[in-house]
Parts: sequence; structure tokens; C-alpha cells
Amino acid sequence: MVMKYKVMPEVVVDIAANLVGIRNGMREAVKRRPSSLPQRDPVLVAVSKTKSLAAVRQAYEAGQRHFGENYLKELVMKSTNPDMTVICPDIKWHYIGMFQKKMASVLMRVTNLYMLETLTASQEADAVNSRWKGTEPLRVMIQVNTSGEESKSGASPEKCVDVSIHIYNKCPNLKLSGLMTIGSAGHDYSTGPNPDFELLWKCRTDVCNALEIPMSDLDLSMGMSADYEEAIKAGSTSVRVGSNIFGARDYSQTSKT
Ligand SMILES: *Cc1c(COP(=O)(O)O)cnc(C)c1O
Repeated sequence: MVMKYKVMPEVVVDIAANLVGIRNGMREAVKRRPSSLPQRDPVLVAVSKTKSLAAVRQAYEAGQRHFGENYLKELVMKSTNPDMTVICPDIKWHYIGMFQKKMASVLMRVTNLYMLETLTASQEADAVNSRWKGTEPLRVMIQVNTSGEESKSGASPEKCVDVSIHIYNKCPNLKLSGLMTIGSAGHDYSTGPNPDFELLWKCRTDVCNALEIPMSDLDLSMGMSADYEEAIKAGSTSVRVGSNIFGARDYSQTSKT
């Protein structure tokens, strides 16, 4: 055991133990949800951006199946790696980075693409819809800019209803799976619930009313390392957790494209 620390040049992160910790935290948060909220178990998406294939593999071997990446080139490289497709055949990749319609053809190169979480406009949906050749429709979420910050991408709450209607009626190769937000960082929970989470909840109500579908048909992807427990208490059904699983990210080695 001691050897491990001497041999490895970088900080040793116990990914399997971290996953156990997060799953426990999720279970506790589910118990503290108001009974008015849907009681289904939230999905954990392990965000592996900038992390190695070895790290992804460790998480996979610890039972993790859903992974998220937010640099498209990195996702194509990781998902198409021959080792990955052999060792992690059942992996489910979520693309959670900024998306534009010109990226649609690159997105099609991802192996085991499970979901695109970051659609923001109808033209982007069309670009993916016309290219997707999967056996079942590609799951998509609409990213909503709930905090109204210019630095964050995402449809406005009003526009997300229009984009939902478009996907629902005009994109047979896409399945509208839910809404996603990043939200503003550092909310002080002593002042009350996170307004970003409350707004995403309201967006879903509006979308479900417009489409005349039950609320249980749409997931809410909200909550990251710092606030996944609070997000679950606020009704999140999908949390995206990176650094709490894989350790802090080092951006000095990576290009930001
Ligand atoms: C990086 C990232 C995350 C994970 O962030 P952590 O704070 O490391 O958990 C979640 N969602 C998106 C969109 C991200 O880019």
C-alpha cells in the first residue's frame, strides 16, 4: 500500500472510494427531498474531462456507467479509443459542453453517445436530427441559462419552451429527455433554496404544460460537486459530478478547445 504512493508521480485519488461517498451523499439527499417531489433515484454522471482513460476505467470498474465530457474533441478521442470500447462496452457518454450546429457532424463520431445535454436552439436540434443514425432516437436535453449570466450559454427560459416544441414535433430522431442548467456558482444556502434550481423546475412545468406530457417524462440535470446534494433536494434527477470523484482538474496541460 505504501509503495503505491512512492511509485505514482501524481496525487493518488481513490476513485472507487469517492464514488461510494457520492452515492451515499445522493442517497441521503434523496431522503431529505420534500415528499411532493418525484421519488425516483437520480442518475450520477461522472464528469471525466481532462482526466485519463485510466481514471475513466477505474470508475467504470467501480460500477459507474454514465460519464460526461465537455470538450467534444476529447470526448471523440476517449470514446473511440479501442481500449475503451473493449474494456468499457456498456459506457454511456453524455456530451455536456457548449454545442453549436457546426459541431453536429463531429458529435456523430462519438462511440456510445447516450445523451446530448446542451442543445440551445432549434437549428442545432435540426442539425443533429438530420445526422443521427442510431437504432433509437438520441436523447437530448435543452440547456437553460437560469442565471441570466452572459458568460453562460443556454436558452432563455422562454425560448426553452419553443425549442422543446420544435424537438417534440419536428425531430423524430431525437428524444427530448429533460432540461439542464449550470447555474451561478456559490449560492449561499442559508438564504434559502437556489433560485437556478427553482427556475429550471419552473421551466420544466412550462414545457410539460406546452407539450401536454407528465412531469415525470423530463429529467432535470442540475447539481455539480459543490451542490449536488442541494440540487437533489430541489428535485434534480441527474447530477454531474467531476472533481469530487476524480480530484481537482489541472488545466495547465490541456488546450481549451
Ligand atoms: C466540469 C463540469 C461539471 C463538473 O464540475 P465539478 O465541479 O468538477 O463537479 C458539471 N457540469 C458541467 C457542464 C461541467 O462543465
